[in-house]
Amino acid sequence: MKPETKAPIKGIRLRTLNITMITVSCILYILLIVASVHALKKYDIMVSSTDDYIVCEEDAALIADASNYLTEQIRLFTVTTDLAYVENYFTEVYTTKRRDTVLEHLKTYDVDSKTSAYLQTALDHSNQLMDMEIYSMRLVAAAKDYDMSEFPDVHNTALLSEDESLNPEEMIEKARDMVFSSAYQDFKTSITGNISSFLNDVVDDTQKKQQKSTRQLKQTMKGQQILISILFIENILVFFLIIKLIINPLQIYVNNIKNEKRLEITGSYEFKYLALTYNNIFELNAANESMLRHQAEHDPLTGIINRGAFDQLRQLLKTKFEPLALLIIDVDKFKLVNDGYGHEIGDQVLQKVAKLLEDSFRATDFPARIGGDEFAVIVTNVTVEMKSMIENKINSLNEMLLHPTDDLPAVSLSVGGAFSECGFADELYKQADSALYEVKNHGRCGCRFYQG
Ligand code: GH3
Ligand code: MG
Repeated sequence: MKPETKAPIKGIRLRTLNITMITVSCILYILLIVASVHALKKYDIMVSSTDDYIVCEEDAALIADASNYLTEQIRLFTVTTDLAYVENYFTEVYTTKRRDTVLEHLKTYDVDSKTSAYLQTALDHSNQLMDMEIYSMRLVAAAKDYDMSEFPDVHNTALLSEDESLNPEEMIEKARDMVFSSAYQDFKTSITGNISSFLNDVVDDTQKKQQKSTRQLKQTMKGQQILISILFIENILVFFLIIKLIINPLQIYVNNIKNEKRLEITGSYEFKYLALTYNNIFELNAANESMLRHQAEHDPLTGIINRGAFDQLRQLLKTKFEPLALLIIDVDKFKLVNDGYGHEIGDQVLQKVAKLLEDSFRATDFPARIGGDEFAVIVTNVTVEMKSMIENKINSLNEMLLHPTDDLPAVSLSVGGAFSECGFADELYKQADSALYEVKNHGRCGCRFYQG
C-alpha cells in the first residue's frame, strides 16, 4: 500500500547515506595507507642516512689507520731493513686491503663532480704514495741485495740510473729520506685532507637528506593526524546519524505501536515512508473499527443504541453511585399500524418515535430500542422528585404522536418507569416493566412509575 501524501516524503535515504559513508571511509583509509607507506619510506631514508653517516665515520677512521699502518711498515723497513715489514706491508695492500676497500666503498656514494674530484685526487696521491713506498723498498732491497721476486711490485720496479750508482748505505739513506720526507708527508696529508673533504661533503649531503626526510616525515605524520581526526569525526557522525535516523525512530515507533498511536514522521526516508504507510493503515483500521463498533452497538433502523449495547450499559451503570431512572416504552397497538399501513410505514413510525425520544431527553441520557416496538431510556442523574418532569415529557411526546403533522399514522406510547438512588439496580428493569404493564392495563397512552 502506497502512503497517500500530499507532499513528497523528504529525508535522508539510508542506502545513500550508507554508500556515502562507505565511500568516504574507504577514501580516508586509502589515504591513510598511502601516508603510512610514505612515512615508512621517509623513515627508511632517515635510517639509511644515519647508517651512511656512521659508515663515513668508520671509513675515515679505517683509511687513516690503514695509511698510518703502511707508513709505519715502510718506515720500519727502511730503518731496520727487516723483510718482515715488507711482508706486513703487502699483506695490508693485497690481503687486508683496508685502504682499497674504503676507497672502493667511497666510490659507491652518489656525489657531485666537485666531491668526486676529492676522491680522485686522494686516489691519485695514494697511488703516487705507494709508488714512492715501493721505490723506497726497491732501494733498500738493492742495497741489501734481497731477492724480491716474492713481491712483484718491488721486484719489477726499476731503479733510476742515478740511484743505481749509489752505494748501499746511500741507497738506504735515500729510501729513508723518501718515506720520512716532507713530500711524503704532504702526500699523506693531501690524501687524508681530500678524503676528509670528500667525507665532509658526503656527511653534509647525508645530513641534508636526513633533514629533508625528517621534514617530510613530519608533514606526512601531520597528514596522518588530520586523516585520523577526520575518520574519528566521521565515525562520531555515523553514530549520531544511526541514533537520529534509526534508533530513535525505532524506539518511538515501538512505543507508539504499543500504545496504539499514530507514528511520528521522523528519521530517515525509509522510516518516514513506513510511518506514513502505517498511519494510513492505522486510520483505515480505526475507521473500520469505529464503523463496526457503531454497527454492533446501534439499531440499523432507528440509529439509536440496540438491545446489546443497552444491556452492556446496564452492567456498566450497576457500579455507578448516581441516581437514575429507567423508562420502558412500548408503542400502543403497533400491530394495527403494520396491518393497516404496511410494514414500511410501521418502520417509519418506529424511526419517528426513536427521533422524538432522542430529541426529548438530554445528551447524557440513553434512549435505546430494546425490542420490536419497545424502547427504553436510561435517564441519568434524576431522582423521584423529578418524576413529573419525566411525565410531562412523555405527555408531550404522546401529544405529538397523537397529532402528527406528517403523513404518518397517529400512535401513542405506554411508559413504565422506575427510579434507583444508586446505579442501575438489578430489580430496576422488572420494576419499570411492571409499571408499563400497569399502563397497558389501564388504557395505555400514559406514564406510570413503580411504587415500591
Ligand atoms: P400493545 O399495545 O399491547 O403493545 O399492542 P401491539 O400491537 O403493539 O403489540 P406488540 O407490542 O406485542 O406488537 C409489536 C409488533 O411490532 C409486532 C411486530 O409485527 C411489530 N414489529 C416488530 N418489529 C418490527 C419492525 O422492525 N418493524 C415493523 N414495522 N414492525 C415491527
Ligand atoms: Mg406494542
